[in-house]
Amino acid sequence: MLNIFGENEKIVKAKEQVKKVYLADDRPWVVGYSGGKDSTAVVQLVFSALSELEASQLKKMVYIISSDTLVETPMIISSITNTLGMIQDEAMRRGLPIETHKVRPELKNTFWVTLIGRGYPSPRQKFRWCTDRLKIDPANRFILDKVSKYGEVIMVLGVRETESSTRAGVIKSHSVEGKVLMKHSSLPNAYVFAPIREFTMEDVWQYLLEYESPWGGNNHDLLQLYQDSSSECPLIVDKEIKESAGSCGNSRFGCWTCTVVKEDKALTGFINSGVEWLKPLLEFRNYLAKIRSDRSLRQKQRTNGQIYLVSVPSDQQIPEDKIKTLEELKEYIQKENIDLAHVEELEYYIRTEDGSIKQLGLGPFTLKAREEILRRLLQTQKKVQEMRQDSTVELISLEELKLIRRLWKREGDWEDQIPKIYYQETGIELDWEQDDRPQFKKNQITDLERLCEEYGVPISLIKKLIAVEREYSGYKIRRGLYQEFDRILDQEILHL
Ligand code: SF4
Repeated sequence: MLNIFGENEKIVKAKEQVKKVYLADDRPWVVGYSGGKDSTAVVQLVFSALSELEASQLKKMVYIISSDTLVETPMIISSITNTLGMIQDEAMRRGLPIETHKVRPELKNTFWVTLIGRGYPSPRQKFRWCTDRLKIDPANRFILDKVSKYGEVIMVLGVRETESSTRAGVIKSHSVEGKVLMKHSSLPNAYVFAPIREFTMEDVWQYLLEYESPWGGNNHDLLQLYQDSSSECPLIVDKEIKESAGSCGNSRFGCWTCTVVKEDKALTGFINSGVEWLKPLLEFRNYLAKIRSDRSLRQKQRTNGQIYLVSVPSDQQIPEDKIKTLEELKEYIQKENIDLAHVEELEYYIRTEDGSIKQLGLGPFTLKAREEILRRLLQTQKKVQEMRQDSTVELISLEELKLIRRLWKREGDWEDQIPKIYYQETGIELDWEQDDRPQFKKNQITDLERLCEEYGVPISLIKKLIAVEREYSGYKIRRGLYQEFDRILDQEILHL
Protein backbone atom coordinates (compact mmCIF):
# COMPACT_ATOMS: atom_id res chain seq x y z
CA MET A 1 0.00 0.00 0.00
CA LEU A 2 1.28 3.51 -0.85
CA ASN A 3 1.21 6.41 1.64
CA ILE A 4 0.38 10.05 0.78
CA PHE A 5 3.93 10.60 -0.50
CA GLY A 6 3.48 7.68 -2.90
CA GLU A 7 5.89 5.48 -0.92
CA ASN A 8 5.37 1.82 -0.15
CA GLU A 9 4.31 1.87 3.50
CA LYS A 10 5.89 -1.49 4.26
CA ILE A 11 9.28 -0.15 3.17
CA VAL A 12 8.94 3.05 5.21
CA LYS A 13 7.81 1.06 8.26
CA ALA A 14 10.61 -1.48 7.89
CA LYS A 15 13.27 1.23 7.80
CA GLU A 16 11.85 2.91 10.90
CA GLN A 17 11.76 -0.44 12.65
CA VAL A 18 15.41 -1.07 11.74
CA LYS A 19 16.37 2.26 13.37
CA LYS A 20 14.29 1.53 16.47
CA VAL A 21 15.72 -1.96 16.98
CA TYR A 22 19.27 -0.70 16.35
CA LEU A 23 18.91 2.01 19.00
CA ALA A 24 17.15 -0.22 21.53
CA ASP A 25 20.26 -1.86 23.00
CA ASP A 26 24.00 -2.35 22.52
CA ARG A 27 23.95 -5.91 21.15
CA PRO A 28 25.91 -5.99 17.87
CA TRP A 29 24.25 -7.10 14.65
CA VAL A 30 25.37 -9.80 12.26
CA VAL A 31 23.68 -9.38 8.88
CA GLY A 32 23.70 -12.33 6.49
CA TYR A 33 24.38 -11.34 2.88
CA SER A 34 24.13 -14.03 0.17
CA GLY A 35 24.13 -11.79 -2.89
CA GLY A 36 20.45 -12.63 -3.53
CA LYS A 37 17.52 -10.23 -3.62
CA ASP A 38 16.21 -10.69 -0.05
CA SER A 39 19.53 -10.26 1.70
CA THR A 40 20.47 -7.37 -0.60
CA ALA A 41 17.21 -5.69 0.42
CA VAL A 42 18.02 -6.20 4.11
CA VAL A 43 21.57 -4.87 3.81
CA GLN A 44 20.26 -1.89 1.84
CA LEU A 45 17.61 -1.20 4.52
CA VAL A 46 20.17 -1.40 7.33
CA PHE A 47 22.71 0.72 5.46
CA SER A 48 20.11 3.42 4.63
CA ALA A 49 18.64 3.40 8.15
CA LEU A 50 22.06 3.81 9.77
CA SER A 51 22.90 6.62 7.32
CA GLU A 52 19.88 8.54 8.60
CA LEU A 53 20.95 8.36 12.25
CA GLU A 54 23.09 10.95 14.04
CA ALA A 55 26.80 10.08 14.37
CA SER A 56 26.39 10.03 18.17
CA GLN A 57 23.75 7.29 17.82
CA LEU A 58 25.99 4.97 15.81
CA LYS A 59 27.40 3.15 18.77
CA LYS A 60 27.18 -0.52 17.97
CA MET A 61 28.83 -2.64 15.32
CA VAL A 62 27.06 -4.15 12.33
CA TYR A 63 28.90 -7.09 10.79
CA ILE A 64 27.84 -8.07 7.28
CA ILE A 65 28.85 -11.64 6.56
CA SER A 66 28.77 -13.67 3.36
CA SER A 67 29.58 -17.29 3.03
CA ASP A 68 32.22 -18.47 0.62
CA THR A 69 31.82 -22.25 0.38
CA LEU A 70 34.99 -22.36 -1.77
CA VAL A 71 32.85 -24.00 -4.47
CA GLU A 72 30.71 -20.97 -5.21
CA THR A 73 29.65 -20.25 -8.76
CA PRO A 74 32.62 -18.10 -9.90
CA MET A 75 30.51 -15.15 -11.14
CA ILE A 76 28.48 -14.99 -7.97
CA ILE A 77 31.39 -15.07 -5.57
CA SER A 78 33.25 -12.37 -7.48
CA SER A 79 30.10 -10.23 -7.47
CA ILE A 80 29.71 -10.77 -3.70
CA THR A 81 33.37 -9.91 -3.10
CA ASN A 82 32.96 -6.79 -5.18
CA THR A 83 29.77 -5.73 -3.38
CA LEU A 84 31.28 -6.31 0.07
CA GLY A 85 34.18 -4.08 -0.97
CA MET A 86 31.80 -1.32 -2.13
CA ILE A 87 29.74 -1.54 1.08
CA GLN A 88 32.90 -1.36 3.19
CA ASP A 89 34.29 1.65 1.30
CA GLU A 90 31.04 3.60 1.41
CA ALA A 91 30.47 2.75 5.08
CA MET A 92 33.93 4.10 5.90
CA ARG A 93 33.29 7.22 3.87
CA ARG A 94 30.04 7.85 5.77
CA GLY A 95 31.50 6.89 9.14
CA LEU A 96 29.10 3.97 9.66
CA PRO A 97 30.14 1.22 12.11
CA ILE A 98 29.90 -1.50 9.46
CA GLU A 99 32.41 -4.29 8.86
CA THR A 100 32.15 -6.83 6.03
CA HIS A 101 33.47 -10.40 6.27
CA LYS A 102 33.50 -13.60 4.24
CA VAL A 103 33.12 -16.81 6.22
CA ARG A 104 34.62 -20.05 4.92
CA PRO A 105 34.42 -23.71 5.93
CA GLU A 106 37.24 -25.15 8.01
CA LEU A 107 39.80 -27.02 5.94
CA LYS A 108 38.69 -30.36 7.38
CA ASN A 109 35.11 -29.67 6.23
CA THR A 110 35.52 -28.30 2.71
CA PHE A 111 33.56 -29.86 -0.16
CA TRP A 112 36.64 -31.60 -1.62
CA VAL A 113 38.10 -32.79 1.68
CA THR A 114 34.72 -34.32 2.54
CA LEU A 115 34.00 -35.83 -0.88
CA ILE A 116 37.45 -36.79 -2.15
CA GLY A 117 39.25 -37.07 1.19
CA ARG A 118 36.61 -38.92 3.20
CA GLY A 119 34.63 -40.33 0.28
CA TYR A 120 31.23 -38.88 1.17
CA PRO A 121 28.90 -39.46 -1.77
CA SER A 122 27.90 -36.35 -3.74
CA PRO A 123 25.21 -34.63 -1.60
CA ARG A 124 21.53 -35.15 -2.25
CA GLN A 125 18.33 -34.05 -0.54
CA LYS A 126 18.28 -37.06 1.81
CA PHE A 127 21.97 -36.78 2.69
CA ARG A 128 22.66 -33.08 2.49
CA TRP A 129 25.94 -32.97 4.40
CA CYS A 130 27.07 -29.81 2.66
CA THR A 131 24.93 -27.00 4.11
CA ASP A 132 26.08 -27.59 7.68
CA ARG A 133 29.74 -27.94 6.80
CA LEU A 134 29.96 -25.25 4.14
CA LYS A 135 27.49 -22.62 5.32
CA ILE A 136 25.88 -23.04 8.73
CA ASP A 137 28.94 -23.98 10.79
CA PRO A 138 31.23 -21.23 9.42
CA ALA A 139 28.53 -18.59 10.00
CA ASN A 140 27.79 -19.96 13.47
CA ARG A 141 31.50 -19.85 14.34
CA PHE A 142 31.54 -16.17 13.45
CA ILE A 143 28.41 -15.51 15.51
CA LEU A 144 29.69 -17.46 18.52
CA ASP A 145 32.93 -15.50 18.38
CA LYS A 146 30.91 -12.29 18.64
CA VAL A 147 28.71 -13.79 21.39
CA SER A 148 31.82 -14.56 23.43
CA LYS A 149 33.03 -10.99 22.92
CA TYR A 150 29.75 -9.11 23.48
CA GLY A 151 27.56 -11.55 25.44
CA GLU A 152 24.66 -11.53 22.97
CA VAL A 153 24.18 -10.81 19.26
CA ILE A 154 21.31 -10.15 16.93
CA MET A 155 21.24 -11.87 13.54
CA VAL A 156 19.56 -9.77 10.88
CA LEU A 157 18.20 -12.04 8.15
CA GLY A 158 16.34 -11.66 4.88
CA VAL A 159 13.70 -14.29 5.63
CA ARG A 160 10.14 -13.67 4.48
CA GLU A 161 6.89 -15.33 5.52
CA THR A 162 5.54 -15.32 1.98
CA GLU A 163 8.49 -17.36 0.64
CA SER A 164 6.64 -20.56 1.51
CA SER A 165 4.09 -21.79 4.01
CA THR A 166 6.76 -23.89 5.75
CA ARG A 167 8.99 -20.84 6.08
CA ALA A 168 6.07 -18.85 7.47
CA GLY A 169 5.43 -21.63 10.02
CA VAL A 170 9.07 -21.71 11.12
CA ILE A 171 9.22 -17.93 11.51
CA LYS A 172 5.94 -17.90 13.49
CA SER A 173 7.05 -20.73 15.77
CA HIS A 174 10.16 -18.76 16.73
CA SER A 175 8.32 -15.50 17.33
CA VAL A 176 7.01 -14.20 20.60
CA GLU A 177 3.76 -12.24 20.44
CA GLY A 178 4.44 -8.50 20.37
CA LYS A 179 8.24 -8.94 20.10
CA VAL A 180 10.29 -8.10 17.05
CA LEU A 181 13.16 -10.45 17.89
CA MET A 182 12.96 -14.23 17.59
CA LYS A 183 15.05 -16.77 19.48
CA HIS A 184 17.69 -18.45 17.39
CA SER A 185 16.81 -22.14 17.18
CA SER A 186 20.19 -23.50 18.21
CA LEU A 187 22.56 -20.75 19.29
CA PRO A 188 22.09 -19.53 22.84
CA ASN A 189 22.43 -15.78 23.25
CA ALA A 190 21.65 -15.16 19.60
CA TYR A 191 18.41 -13.56 18.43
CA VAL A 192 16.96 -13.17 14.97
CA PHE A 193 15.57 -9.96 13.53
CA ALA A 194 13.82 -10.26 10.17
CA PRO A 195 13.02 -6.72 9.00
CA ILE A 196 11.44 -7.83 5.70
CA ARG A 197 9.46 -10.76 7.10
CA GLU A 198 6.18 -9.25 5.86
CA PHE A 199 7.49 -8.27 2.42
CA THR A 200 6.16 -10.00 -0.67
CA MET A 201 8.49 -10.66 -3.56
CA GLU A 202 7.01 -7.59 -5.31
CA ASP A 203 7.84 -5.40 -2.28
CA VAL A 204 11.43 -6.64 -2.39
CA TRP A 205 11.86 -5.87 -6.07
CA GLN A 206 10.11 -2.53 -5.73
CA TYR A 207 12.50 -1.57 -2.95
CA LEU A 208 15.56 -2.72 -4.87
CA LEU A 209 14.63 -1.13 -8.18
CA GLU A 210 13.05 2.11 -7.06
CA TYR A 211 15.43 3.00 -4.24
CA GLU A 212 19.02 3.55 -5.29
CA SER A 213 21.67 1.29 -3.79
CA PRO A 214 23.39 3.47 -1.17
CA TRP A 215 26.84 2.01 -1.88
CA GLY A 216 26.50 2.44 -5.65
CA GLY A 217 25.55 -1.15 -6.56
CA ASN A 218 23.35 -1.93 -9.54
CA ASN A 219 20.18 -3.77 -8.57
CA HIS A 220 19.10 -4.07 -12.21
CA ASP A 221 22.03 -6.44 -12.69
CA LEU A 222 20.66 -8.45 -9.79
CA LEU A 223 17.28 -8.65 -11.48
CA GLN A 224 19.04 -10.01 -14.55
CA LEU A 225 20.42 -12.86 -12.44
CA TYR A 226 16.92 -13.84 -11.44
CA GLN A 227 15.59 -14.16 -14.96
CA ASP A 228 15.92 -17.94 -14.96
CA SER A 229 15.23 -18.68 -11.34
CA SER A 230 13.13 -17.38 -8.54
CA SER A 231 14.85 -18.85 -5.51
CA GLU A 232 18.09 -17.95 -3.84
CA CYS A 233 20.48 -19.75 -1.56
CA PRO A 234 20.25 -17.75 1.62
CA LEU A 235 23.17 -17.49 3.96
CA ILE A 236 21.58 -20.06 6.19
CA VAL A 237 22.30 -19.54 9.83
CA ASP A 238 19.50 -21.44 11.45
CA LYS A 239 19.03 -25.19 11.13
CA GLU A 240 15.25 -25.08 11.15
CA ILE A 241 15.20 -22.37 8.57
CA LYS A 242 17.59 -24.56 6.56
CA GLU A 243 15.10 -27.42 6.59
CA SER A 244 12.34 -25.14 5.34
CA ALA A 245 14.61 -23.74 2.65
CA GLY A 246 14.80 -26.98 0.68
CA SER A 247 17.72 -27.05 -1.66
CA CYS A 248 19.56 -23.86 -2.15
CA GLY A 249 21.24 -25.17 -5.25
CA ASN A 250 18.15 -24.56 -7.33
CA SER A 251 19.23 -21.07 -8.17
CA ARG A 252 22.14 -19.14 -9.51
CA PHE A 253 23.35 -18.65 -6.00
CA GLY A 254 24.27 -22.20 -5.11
CA CYS A 255 27.58 -24.05 -5.31
CA TRP A 256 28.71 -25.01 -8.81
CA THR A 257 29.18 -28.56 -7.53
CA CYS A 258 25.60 -28.84 -6.25
CA THR A 259 24.09 -32.27 -6.86
CA VAL A 260 21.16 -31.75 -4.52
CA VAL A 261 19.14 -30.40 -7.41
CA LYS A 262 18.24 -32.53 -10.42
CA GLU A 263 19.15 -29.92 -12.93
CA ASP A 264 21.81 -27.33 -12.35
CA LYS A 265 20.74 -23.73 -12.59
CA ALA A 266 23.79 -22.09 -11.09
CA LEU A 267 25.88 -22.78 -14.18
CA THR A 268 23.46 -23.34 -17.06
CA GLY A 269 22.04 -19.83 -16.85
CA PHE A 270 25.49 -18.32 -17.28
CA ILE A 271 26.46 -20.80 -20.00
CA ASN A 272 23.26 -19.97 -21.92
CA SER A 273 24.22 -16.33 -21.75
CA GLY A 274 27.56 -17.13 -23.35
CA VAL A 275 30.06 -17.92 -20.59
CA GLU A 276 31.73 -20.83 -22.39
CA TRP A 277 34.44 -21.59 -19.84
CA LEU A 278 31.83 -22.74 -17.34
CA LYS A 279 31.01 -25.74 -19.55
CA PRO A 280 33.78 -27.99 -18.14
CA LEU A 281 32.47 -27.19 -14.64
CA LEU A 282 28.95 -28.22 -15.64
CA GLU A 283 30.23 -31.46 -17.18
CA PHE A 284 32.11 -32.23 -13.98
CA ARG A 285 29.06 -31.44 -11.84
CA ASN A 286 26.93 -33.78 -13.99
CA TYR A 287 29.58 -36.49 -13.62
CA LEU A 288 29.43 -36.08 -9.81
CA ALA A 289 25.64 -36.44 -9.89
CA LYS A 290 25.85 -39.57 -12.06
CA ILE A 291 28.45 -41.54 -10.12
CA ARG A 292 26.67 -41.22 -6.78
CA SER A 293 24.34 -44.13 -7.51
CA ASP A 294 26.98 -46.35 -9.15
CA ARG A 295 27.32 -49.26 -6.69
CA SER A 296 30.71 -50.31 -8.05
CA LEU A 297 32.24 -46.97 -6.94
CA ARG A 298 30.98 -47.17 -3.38
CA GLN A 299 32.17 -49.14 -0.35
CA LYS A 300 29.78 -51.83 0.81
CA GLN A 301 29.94 -50.62 4.40
CA ARG A 302 29.50 -47.36 6.25
CA THR A 303 32.41 -45.09 7.18
CA ASN A 304 32.42 -46.65 10.68
CA GLY A 305 32.72 -50.14 9.17
CA GLN A 306 29.16 -51.26 9.87
CA ILE A 307 27.18 -53.06 7.22
CA TYR A 308 23.48 -52.51 6.59
CA LEU A 309 20.92 -53.91 4.17
CA VAL A 310 18.85 -52.22 1.47
CA SER A 311 16.12 -53.47 -0.85
CA VAL A 312 16.89 -54.68 -4.33
CA PRO A 313 15.08 -52.88 -7.19
CA SER A 314 11.77 -54.71 -7.73
CA ASP A 315 12.41 -55.35 -11.44
CA GLN A 316 15.78 -57.03 -10.81
CA GLN A 317 15.78 -60.79 -11.43
CA ILE A 318 17.93 -62.69 -8.94
CA PRO A 319 18.79 -66.37 -9.49
CA GLU A 320 18.00 -68.55 -6.48
CA ASP A 321 21.64 -69.76 -6.22
CA LYS A 322 22.79 -66.18 -5.63
CA ILE A 323 20.79 -65.80 -2.43
CA LYS A 324 22.24 -66.49 1.03
CA THR A 325 21.22 -65.78 4.58
CA LEU A 326 23.05 -62.93 6.31
CA GLU A 327 25.10 -65.39 8.36
CA GLU A 328 26.10 -67.30 5.22
CA LEU A 329 27.07 -64.08 3.50
CA LYS A 330 29.25 -63.00 6.44
CA GLU A 331 30.96 -66.38 6.42
CA TYR A 332 31.52 -66.11 2.69
CA ILE A 333 33.02 -62.59 3.04
CA GLN A 334 35.42 -63.79 5.72
CA LYS A 335 36.37 -67.02 3.98
CA GLU A 336 37.05 -65.28 0.68
CA ASN A 337 38.78 -62.42 2.49
CA ILE A 338 36.63 -59.87 0.67
CA ASP A 339 37.42 -56.27 1.50
CA LEU A 340 34.13 -54.35 1.65
CA ALA A 341 36.02 -51.08 1.33
CA HIS A 342 37.26 -51.98 -2.15
CA VAL A 343 35.10 -54.71 -3.67
CA GLU A 344 33.17 -53.46 -6.71
CA GLU A 345 30.20 -55.78 -6.30
CA LEU A 346 29.22 -58.85 -4.32
CA GLU A 347 27.62 -61.59 -6.35
CA TYR A 348 25.34 -62.66 -3.50
CA TYR A 349 22.10 -61.25 -2.10
CA ILE A 350 20.51 -61.79 1.28
CA ARG A 351 17.17 -63.34 2.17
CA THR A 352 16.04 -61.74 5.42
CA GLU A 353 13.92 -63.39 8.11
CA ASP A 354 10.73 -61.97 6.64
CA GLY A 355 11.61 -63.49 3.25
CA SER A 356 12.49 -60.26 1.44
CA ILE A 357 15.62 -60.04 -0.72
CA LYS A 358 18.20 -57.41 0.19
CA GLN A 359 21.72 -56.38 -0.66
CA LEU A 360 24.48 -54.61 1.22
CA GLY A 361 23.89 -50.88 1.56
CA LEU A 362 26.44 -48.38 0.30
CA GLY A 363 29.05 -46.34 2.15
CA PRO A 364 31.64 -43.79 1.00
CA PHE A 365 33.26 -43.76 -2.43
CA THR A 366 36.05 -46.34 -2.67
CA LEU A 367 39.62 -45.03 -2.77
CA LYS A 368 39.82 -46.01 -6.42
CA ALA A 369 36.71 -43.97 -7.21
CA ARG A 370 38.12 -41.00 -5.31
CA GLU A 371 41.35 -41.17 -7.32
CA GLU A 372 39.28 -40.95 -10.50
CA ILE A 373 37.23 -38.02 -9.15
CA LEU A 374 40.42 -36.15 -8.28
CA ARG A 375 41.90 -36.82 -11.71
CA ARG A 376 38.80 -35.47 -13.41
CA LEU A 377 38.70 -32.44 -11.15
CA LEU A 378 42.30 -31.59 -12.02
CA GLN A 379 41.56 -32.15 -15.72
CA THR A 380 38.61 -29.76 -15.39
CA GLN A 381 40.83 -27.20 -13.68
CA LYS A 382 43.34 -27.47 -16.53
CA LYS A 383 40.64 -27.03 -19.17
CA VAL A 384 39.29 -23.92 -17.46
CA GLN A 385 42.82 -22.49 -17.11
CA GLU A 386 43.37 -23.00 -20.84
CA MET A 387 40.00 -21.53 -21.83
CA ARG A 388 40.53 -18.49 -19.66
CA GLN A 389 44.26 -18.31 -20.42
CA ASP A 390 44.83 -17.95 -16.73
CA SER A 391 47.02 -20.48 -14.97
CA THR A 392 46.01 -19.21 -11.53
CA VAL A 393 42.43 -20.59 -11.71
CA GLU A 394 42.19 -23.08 -8.86
CA LEU A 395 39.31 -25.47 -8.22
CA ILE A 396 41.01 -27.33 -5.37
CA SER A 397 43.69 -25.81 -3.13
CA LEU A 398 47.08 -27.21 -2.18
CA GLU A 399 46.01 -27.23 1.50
CA GLU A 400 43.02 -29.40 0.59
CA LEU A 401 45.24 -31.76 -1.42
CA LYS A 402 47.67 -32.09 1.49
CA LEU A 403 44.91 -32.96 3.92
CA ILE A 404 43.34 -35.41 1.47
CA ARG A 405 46.74 -37.06 1.12
CA ARG A 406 46.87 -37.58 4.90
CA LEU A 407 43.32 -38.94 5.00
CA TRP A 408 44.03 -41.37 2.17
CA LYS A 409 47.19 -42.60 3.90
CA ARG A 410 45.07 -43.39 6.94
CA GLU A 411 42.85 -45.49 4.72
CA GLY A 412 45.84 -47.46 3.49
CA ASP A 413 47.05 -45.51 0.44
CA TRP A 414 50.59 -46.86 0.62
CA GLU A 415 51.37 -45.86 -2.93
CA ASP A 416 50.93 -42.20 -1.90
CA GLN A 417 48.82 -41.42 -4.95
CA ILE A 418 48.15 -37.70 -4.55
CA PRO A 419 51.58 -36.32 -5.62
CA LYS A 420 51.60 -38.75 -8.56
CA ILE A 421 48.07 -37.92 -9.71
CA TYR A 422 48.77 -34.20 -9.37
CA TYR A 423 51.92 -34.46 -11.46
CA GLN A 424 50.31 -36.67 -14.10
CA GLU A 425 47.30 -34.38 -14.55
CA THR A 426 48.96 -30.98 -14.27
CA GLY A 427 52.61 -31.62 -15.19
CA ILE A 428 53.55 -29.66 -12.06
CA GLU A 429 55.81 -31.01 -9.34
CA LEU A 430 54.64 -29.51 -6.07
CA ASP A 431 56.61 -29.25 -2.88
CA TRP A 432 55.05 -32.17 -1.01
CA GLU A 433 56.27 -32.93 2.47
CA GLN A 434 58.25 -36.12 2.21
CA ASP A 435 58.02 -38.86 4.76
CA ASP A 436 61.61 -40.11 5.13
CA ARG A 437 60.73 -43.19 7.09
CA PRO A 438 61.17 -46.30 4.95
CA GLN A 439 58.13 -47.22 2.89
CA PHE A 440 57.30 -50.82 2.21
CA LYS A 441 58.92 -52.26 -0.87
CA LYS A 442 56.75 -53.91 -3.51
CA ASN A 443 57.91 -57.44 -2.56
CA GLN A 444 57.25 -56.75 1.13
CA ILE A 445 53.71 -55.70 0.28
CA THR A 446 53.24 -58.89 -1.73
CA ASP A 447 54.50 -60.93 1.24
CA LEU A 448 52.11 -59.12 3.52
CA GLU A 449 49.22 -59.69 1.15
CA ARG A 450 50.05 -63.41 1.02
CA LEU A 451 50.16 -63.63 4.82
CA CYS A 452 46.84 -61.78 5.10
CA GLU A 453 45.26 -64.24 2.73
CA GLU A 454 46.71 -67.19 4.61
CA TYR A 455 45.36 -65.97 7.95
CA GLY A 456 42.10 -64.55 6.62
CA VAL A 457 42.85 -60.98 7.68
CA PRO A 458 41.80 -58.10 5.37
CA ILE A 459 44.88 -56.33 3.96
CA SER A 460 43.03 -53.00 4.25
CA LEU A 461 42.82 -53.53 8.01
CA ILE A 462 46.58 -54.11 8.28
CA LYS A 463 47.24 -51.06 6.09
CA LYS A 464 45.13 -48.86 8.33
CA LEU A 465 46.81 -50.13 11.51
CA ILE A 466 50.27 -49.56 10.06
CA ALA A 467 49.27 -46.07 8.83
CA VAL A 468 48.18 -45.15 12.38
CA GLU A 469 51.32 -46.66 13.90
CA ARG A 470 53.43 -44.56 11.51
CA GLU A 471 51.53 -41.41 12.45
CA TYR A 472 52.30 -41.96 16.11
CA SER A 473 55.86 -43.23 15.68
CA GLY A 474 57.54 -39.88 16.41
CA TYR A 475 55.55 -39.24 19.58
CA LYS A 476 56.74 -39.99 23.12
CA ILE A 477 53.21 -40.24 24.45
CA ARG A 478 51.28 -42.74 22.40
CA ARG A 479 48.13 -42.90 24.49
CA GLY A 480 45.85 -42.22 21.53
CA LEU A 481 47.42 -45.00 19.49
CA TYR A 482 45.63 -47.83 21.28
CA GLN A 483 42.31 -46.00 21.11
CA GLU A 484 42.82 -45.62 17.35
CA PHE A 485 43.69 -49.32 17.07
CA ASP A 486 40.49 -50.20 18.92
CA ARG A 487 38.46 -47.95 16.66
CA ILE A 488 39.87 -49.51 13.50
CA LEU A 489 39.52 -53.08 14.78
CA ASP A 490 35.98 -52.36 15.82
CA GLN A 491 35.18 -51.21 12.30
CA GLU A 492 36.63 -54.00 10.30
CA ILE A 493 36.25 -57.18 12.27
CA LEU A 494 33.62 -57.09 14.94
CA HIS A 495 30.67 -56.29 12.76
CA LEU A 496 31.08 -59.31 10.58
S1 SF4 B 1 24.22 -25.09 -3.00
FE1 SF4 B 1 23.94 -27.31 -3.01
S2 SF4 B 1 26.03 -28.09 -2.55
FE2 SF4 B 1 26.01 -25.94 -1.95
S3 SF4 B 1 25.47 -25.96 0.23
FE3 SF4 B 1 23.55 -25.63 -0.93
S4 SF4 B 1 22.69 -27.70 -1.19
FE4 SF4 B 1 24.85 -27.95 -0.63
